[in-house]
Amino acid sequence: MPASPLDALCQEEIACRRCPRLVEWREKVAVERRASYSQEVYWGRPVPGFGDPAARLVVVGLAPAAHGGNRTGRVFTGDRSGDWLWAALWRAGLATQPESVSAADGLRALGTWVSAVVRCAPPANRPTPQERDNCLPYLETELALLPARAVLALGAFAYEGCCRVLGVTKRPAFGHGVEVPTQRGIPIVCSYHPSQQNTFTGRLTEEMLDAVVRRAWRLAGGADGADARKARPLKKLAEQSAALYEPVELGP
Ligand code: SF4
Repeated sequence: MPASPLDALCQEEIACRRCPRLVEWREKVAVERRASYSQEVYWGRPVPGFGDPAARLVVVGLAPAAHGGNRTGRVFTGDRSGDWLWAALWRAGLATQPESVSAADGLRALGTWVSAVVRCAPPANRPTPQERDNCLPYLETELALLPARAVLALGAFAYEGCCRVLGVTKRPAFGHGVEVPTQRGIPIVCSYHPSQQNTFTGRLTEEMLDAVVRRAWRLAGGADGADARKARPLKKLAEQSAALYEPVELGP
């Protein structure tokens, strides 16, 4: 069967070496590894978006974490930020389970796609403007291929990237809960990033994250998110293939 456009995009991303500094860093981290993961084989490559090809909501982060996505090969997987994000998506009915520990853990997103502005782990979580611009076409293509109706931007860097991709020239100041309409008809909802820096300090609470996830889902045309999970019995989901981009139909 020929690869879907999303699969083809994923393959293109995985092979990308456009940013020499990030290629060197992601591979160095994968070789040196953190002591607690020393027995694991790190992914060490670009981390493509992950989720439901029928996604109405696209969640956009900054970049994979060195020992999270860069280790596991799946975005927001295997680190504390991922724990927070997927638990919130699960509480909203937009994921089949609250944990995201490895690419083989059976997690499926429902009506949602999770991605990042930059697809390679950057040193100190700080990509350069050139690296951001190198990588943004991948997000742009994802948004063109998905039936996206709203974007949830996690953090100021993701917000800026989403504004660039969606043609927002006069960008309102970033803040948690800020909503920005776009010419493409895909509004952006802002959230503080669920980094430990924000969650440990209480700058971002579970309630705050839940509120923006639910708001973004409503702007995406979704009813109560819990309906998405009910619309397809979990047993049926579990019986499906383990393909990365398995389609999931949503209820009305
Ligand atoms: S950050 Fe993006 S553009 Fe740069 S090497 Fe990684 S995948 Fe390619």
